[in-house]
Amino acid sequence: MLPQNLPILNYHKIDNKPDVGITTRHPDDFIKDLAILKQQGFNSINFKHLKENKLPKKPVLISFDDAYESFYSEAFPILKEFQMTAVVFVPVNFIGKFNTWDVQIGRKKYRHMNESQLIEISKSGFEIGSHSLTHRSLTFLDEKSLISEIKTSKEVLQDITGENIISFSYPFGLLNNRVIKYVQEHYAYAVQLIKFKQQLNGTSLYSIPRINIYRMDSEKAFIKKLDFRNNTGLVFKNKLIQSGSWATVLLQQFKNFNRYN
Ligand SMILES: [Zn+2]
Repeated sequence: MLPQNLPILNYHKIDNKPDVGITTRHPDDFIKDLAILKQQGFNSINFKHLKENKLPKKPVLISFDDAYESFYSEAFPILKEFQMTAVVFVPVNFIGKFNTWDVQIGRKKYRHMNESQLIEISKSGFEIGSHSLTHRSLTFLDEKSLISEIKTSKEVLQDITGENIISFSYPFGLLNNRVIKYVQEHYAYAVQLIKFKQQLNGTSLYSIPRINIYRMDSEKAFIKKLDFRNNTGLVFKNKLIQSGSWATVLLQQFKNFNRYN
């Protein structure tokens, strides 16, 4: 079971250079976020703590999708300074490579962390989770591809880190019962993004809701997001913002992905 009202925050890039999109948080704002958490008495945890039932008072879970190099250069030193942990979800076929899976036109390319960076953060007490192999929407895939996205990505990450990989993040937060069925066979937890009110307090460990922290979020907005499970308006607004990622999902369908197979 998840602790009731556990805030689960999700970031992408931490960088002082703005992106076309809104998912890049400025390092100064990230420092402010962590200072607020500390000030409010939150203690950061990862899924391993949950599994071992070793929970501090007032837990918060911080996650990072896509395992960008900026996690290593920007977020990692800041988190260590605050003595906090995080879960980093890796799209395995892009380790050490640029984010060519993000096919939105005109986007600047960003590099993902390489193997030695992943090993270092894992050894420092951060949790590595899988974000599939190719960062495609799993809901469109045939059975063979689906299994390899879920199972092979876990095996590769276990080989790299020497750790048991127990958590999974659905690319684009997209899932259905068929996808969940395979994820359940290989992981203890799987995270999505916030969707509908009725899912927020659901107990399923395979559709755990998280809230994205965006570039423009003020201190006030950040504090509000800590209580996202009890805020219907916030859920609706973020659902609208997330629908922007559909452009990538649709463009991916038009591209030839044979090179991955
Ligand atoms: Zn992603």
